Amino acid sequence: MQEQYADIIVDISHEKLDKTFQYRVPERLREVLEPGMCVQIPFGNGNRLIKGYVLEIGTRCKFDPARTKDIAGIAEKDVDVTDKMIALAAWIRKNYGSTMIQALKTVLPAKQTVKKLEHRYVEVLMNAEELRSLLGESMRKKNQMGRVRLLTALLEQEKERRENTGASGNAVIPYRWITTKLNISAATINSLEKAGAIRIFTTESFRNPVTCEDGAISRPLRKLSSAQQDIVESVLKDLDCGNPKTYLLHGITGSGKTEVYMELIEGVIQRGRQAIVLIPEIALTYQTLLRFYSRFGDRVSVINSTLSAGERYDQCERAKKGEIDVIIGPRSALFTPFPNVGLIVMDEEHESSYKSESTPKYHARETAIEVARLHGAGVVLGSATPSMEAFYRAEKGQYQLFTLTERLTGGTLPTVYTVDLREELRKGNRSIFSEKLQRLLADRLSKGQQSILFLNRRGYAGFVSCRACGEVMKCPHCDVSLSEHGNGRLMCHYCGYSEPKPKVCPKCGSKYVLGFKAGTQQIEEKLKELFPSVRTLRMDGDTTKTKGSYEEILSAFAEGEADVLIGTQMIVKGHDFPNVTLVGVLAADLSLSASDYRAGERTFQLLTQAVGRAGRGELPGEAVIQTYQPEHYAVVHAAAQDYGSFYQEEILYRELGGYPPAANMLAVQIFARNEKMGGQLAQALAVQAKEDAVQVLGPAPATISKINDIYRFVFYIKSGDYDRLIQSKDRLECWLAERQLPDVQVQFDFNPMSSM
Ligand code: ADP
Ligand code: ZN
Ligand code: ZN
Repeated sequence: MQEQYADIIVDISHEKLDKTFQYRVPERLREVLEPGMCVQIPFGNGNRLIKGYVLEIGTRCKFDPARTKDIAGIAEKDVDVTDKMIALAAWIRKNYGSTMIQALKTVLPAKQTVKKLEHRYVEVLMNAEELRSLLGESMRKKNQMGRVRLLTALLEQEKERRENTGASGNAVIPYRWITTKLNISAATINSLEKAGAIRIFTTESFRNPVTCEDGAISRPLRKLSSAQQDIVESVLKDLDCGNPKTYLLHGITGSGKTEVYMELIEGVIQRGRQAIVLIPEIALTYQTLLRFYSRFGDRVSVINSTLSAGERYDQCERAKKGEIDVIIGPRSALFTPFPNVGLIVMDEEHESSYKSESTPKYHARETAIEVARLHGAGVVLGSATPSMEAFYRAEKGQYQLFTLTERLTGGTLPTVYTVDLREELRKGNRSIFSEKLQRLLADRLSKGQQSILFLNRRGYAGFVSCRACGEVMKCPHCDVSLSEHGNGRLMCHYCGYSEPKPKVCPKCGSKYVLGFKAGTQQIEEKLKELFPSVRTLRMDGDTTKTKGSYEEILSAFAEGEADVLIGTQMIVKGHDFPNVTLVGVLAADLSLSASDYRAGERTFQLLTQAVGRAGRGELPGEAVIQTYQPEHYAVVHAAAQDYGSFYQEEILYRELGGYPPAANMLAVQIFARNEKMGGQLAQALAVQAKEDAVQVLGPAPATISKINDIYRFVFYIKSGDYDRLIQSKDRLECWLAERQLPDVQVQFDFNPMSSM
């Protein structure tokens, strides 16, 4: 039997992962040893037994085999933080495909000396009445726009603080937030300090910016509704019985989910345990943070992209030492080394940013459930439009479903009109705005109310349709749309099928068979042709390239600096705009035609979110959905704001097609500098995979078939059983390891978020 050797690491920290020692695996351990396991090894001259962790196992001895020592045995599992982190890394390695080192680097924070960044804050010194009188003064004067904006914001903060906390301390706002988000100059802030309205102060560490008197944690003023209370009690009871579960909390925006999270977190803290709150970066607004800060005071901390690596490390150290109980952040917050996690909350659970785009391509949902398993914690997933995965599992009883149906913030669901764009063309309207939308836009402009125009262009790249009848060119084998390639051919990215681009529409014979190209800039121009005096703001990949510009555009719109905000999917998140009473969705079906099995789900989510942006304030809202496929179920159910019906139809399609969550899918991506070599390797790997008697689709060139002169190929392996996919992946890795091919790279993506 061939000898086995294991790379073992003794000092587990992000920086020392490359310092491994090799030991021989004794025969009795050959079948049982796995990466991530904790072992006893003889170390140093005295052969003292110490603890180490297995990173990789192989058959090649890197040193003199005669002088390579044996592993003494498997060590007792401690329950300390490090063991849990290692166990998590091993789980990630196994389930998502990466080396143990890559997985550990994902899980462990990089050690950095904390650069003492100064954090500056503004404390509000005046009460609401004094602020209001100062505001009135400024409004009467000229050139005080910045001052008016700042005072308005201070007033809002005051109100927010009083409503949400009832604490007697002063409202405190991060300085940076005022300069970047409200776009207010230092001179304006200084002038208000001189006027005695505020005080500017700095602290050395990134701490809670809200001061509560005596450090006391403020009690919420409001009582939970009975629906909210039932959820809280049920989850805490499970925790107390030692039977925590994964829960799906389905409730529209404003239905009180965040309030439930906070009550649960409080319960968890009372039990001496900690909580992790995942919020996608884009939804991590200051308003949300303030609610957590004012409830949990100094015991809560935040991870986001404005944190330096040093500060990130500092946060982890504080968590280890027990200085904080709650961490809020995007998916990487999962790896906060808390000693005893009691609850993980994952808000906006359906967001695709929860899946890592680099190896290991882990999904925060499954990873959160694993973290919870290691700690004996509960997981609460929250969303207004749950992912198919989450709802499917809730239906199967793997997750427990809770529903909140009432909107507590007031406002009503908007009236939605669906406009058939084919009909418009027949009536002779060639504009990108339907008659209905034009009429409603004119109405809002005359009333001084705001509108949002949403261009749904997700995944539109290359898809081809008939302008006369809306027919989309599709793959006859896969039920996904074909993409246009430079060579005048249409191609399927799932199976490789291709055909020449038709000269006329196969359905109606029209010559207008085209790819869709309209961008936000074009829409802005057309809008100005129709309404010359309209004030617009534009938000897309181009206008938000610089840091902070995203927030700037949103706050400018919130302050009424434009009548119409035009943007891509970015605008459906973030701020509430109470003065928006009209939402127009241009080309609702663009995302439907993406060559992707998730197209329907994504379209439904986007449309639901977009439509829900109208009528958040006191004025009722309306929405117009322009589409070539008014009868498509994703459009119909989004217009009716009916999640349940959408789910029923979508899951049928997934079951029939064998797509996640009904089945599992592994994308194998091949990257090669040499096109022919890449293609051959993809072919050879696909043949290998077929030997496992799993279903294999492809290979085919990837949607973007070349980036930076690297050719990309992809094939998909499908199976009902996730473990079968892991086995396939392991075998392909072995096959690759035996060959040591130069200049090619292979990556694995389990249940990918989009086609490749
Ligand atoms: P979601 O997270 O579902 O969007 P939130 O928890 O933010 O909902 O609640 C929406 C609004 O309703 C917030 O302003 C919140 O303060 C308020 N709210 C939540 N629960 C209650 C309650 N039980 N009574 C009164 N107001 C509530
Ligand atoms: Zn046609
Ligand atoms: Zn196909």
